[in-house]
Amino acid sequence: MKKKVLLLFVLVLLTVAVLWRLSSLRNFQIMGKLVTRAACSEKVVALTFDDGPTGEYTDSILTVLADYKVKATFFVTGREVEENLAPARQIVEQGHELGNHSYSHSRLIFKWPATIRHELEKADVAIRSAGYQGQINFRPPYGKKLFVLPWCLAQMGKTTVMWDIEPETFPEVAASADLIVEHVIQRVQPGSIILLHLMYKSREESRKALPKLIEALKQQGYRFATVTELLSS
Ligand SMILES: [Zn+2]
Repeated sequence: MKKKVLLLFVLVLLTVAVLWRLSSLRNFQIMGKLVTRAACSEKVVALTFDDGPTGEYTDSILTVLADYKVKATFFVTGREVEENLAPARQIVEQGHELGNHSYSHSRLIFKWPATIRHELEKADVAIRSAGYQGQINFRPPYGKKLFVLPWCLAQMGKTTVMWDIEPETFPEVAASADLIVEHVIQRVQPGSIILLHLMYKSREESRKALPKLIEALKQQGYRFATVTELLSS
C-alpha cells in the first residue's frame, strides 16, 4: 500500500513537471498559430518590448525609437494600459504596434476557459481604448501556455508571438548593456524576434542597450519591422 501511494505521488510529480516544461516551450503550442521567428530571407528583425506601459519610461523609449526611425512592438498588459492611458496612446500615435500580454499578467495555465477569455478580451478592449486599430497579436505572460490558453487563442484567431532572442534571461548578460548588444548580435538572423523589458526601473541596462543595439543591428544591414509587418513579409 505504502509503495502504491509513493508511486502515485512520483507519477503526479512527474506529470506536473512535464506539463510545466511543456507550458514553457518557446516553439511549441498544442494548437493555434505560434511564431518564434519569421521565415524570411531579408535582413529584417522585430524589436518587442514586454509589460507596461509605464509613465516613467515610455517617453524616453519612444524618443530613442523616433531618433532612429524604428518601429517596434509593445506587448502591454490591459491593466497597465488602463492605468497609463496617455503613454499607451503616445505609443500608438507614433506608429508602433500594440500586442496583448493579458490583462493582469498572471500565468494563464491551470485556469478556467472563462477566466482566460476574460483576460484576453479585457486586454484587447484596453488596447483599442488607446486608439490602436491594427491586428492584436498575443504574447503569454512568462511565456506560459498549455491547453486552454491555446484553445482560446485559436478561437479568437490570435497568433502567439514568442521570440528567438532573449538576452535578459541570462542574469550576467542582463546586467550589462554591452553584453545585451553582443548577445543579440551573435544570434540575430533574418526574421528574428528580439525580446526586451524596458518599462521598469530594474531594466536600466536594457534601456541603455537600446540605442546601441539599434546601431549595431543597422551596421549589420538589418532594418526593423513591427511583428505584424514581419509576419506578413
Ligand atoms: Zn511580461
